[in-house]
Amino acid sequence: MKFIQSKTILSRVQEDSFFGLSYNMNLYRGCQHGCIYCDSRSACYRMDELSKIYIKENAIELLEKELSAKRLKGTIGTGSMNDPYMPVEKKFKHTRKALEVISDHRFPVHVMTKSDLVLRDLDLLLKLQEIYCAVTFTITTADDDLAKIIEPHAPAPSLRFKAIASLRKAGIYTGITMMPILPYLNDTHKNIKELVNLAKTADAQYILPYMGVTLREGSRDYFYQQINKSFPGLKDKYIQNFGNSYGCNSPKANALYTLFYERCRLHEIPTEMQFFKPRQEPQLTLFDSRT
Ligand code: SF4
Repeated sequence: MKFIQSKTILSRVQEDSFFGLSYNMNLYRGCQHGCIYCDSRSACYRMDELSKIYIKENAIELLEKELSAKRLKGTIGTGSMNDPYMPVEKKFKHTRKALEVISDHRFPVHVMTKSDLVLRDLDLLLKLQEIYCAVTFTITTADDDLAKIIEPHAPAPSLRFKAIASLRKAGIYTGITMMPILPYLNDTHKNIKELVNLAKTADAQYILPYMGVTLREGSRDYFYQQINKSFPGLKDKYIQNFGNSYGCNSPKANALYTLFYERCRLHEIPTEMQFFKPRQEPQLTLFDSRT
């Protein structure tokens, strides 16, 4: 683990149709959850090793400074390049401190995680909700044993579903990203059906699906190494079917989407999120009769 200094902490996001983000924030570099499909290993991000954790020491000061200067009140997302609630957060509390600053500046926030540690910050999430606060859990499989192989150091899916239920009970806007669905691994009718059923039981308010995985230079090599260890023969199947494609959609994608949308309709679970909507201030008319 190492401390580093950052030049900036908020990056502008252009047109995010998934989560409605205006800004992105990564308080750490690297991630401890070790998911075998993680896109952060892609060569384009130039990380030396995903499991090496760098703590952006000046992140909170930078956030305070940058938010004071921001004119656009848009949603700040965290959780794209690493998990804001990975184990190191227990000690350093960077995410908690950042949420405090965001709450002081009354900005909307979206947290994406695989960890039930997010429950520690329920007090802040409730405050942030006065503006807008959404928590999205990534859950790819209903099977805790399979998750142990594909997301080795992340809390089990069963714990994530429990955390969703707790946040919902407290009134937090909470949902799921059901991605990636890995071809020949978790792309089964049983898995999709179970995930939607468990989401319903936990009272999740949305599920965003993708019936495939994206792989590119860096992330693909690591993914192949890992599946080769646990699922002999699977690497060859991927090479044969996807070559160097970025998007590797499940061969059963169409049928799985049909099943997914049917089940979500049945359980009345939306498949899109509600984004932050800035409050319209009442405008004074130019020729107000009282003037
Ligand atoms: S939790 Fe997210 S960022 Fe961390 S290893 Fe898994 S996919 Fe990558």
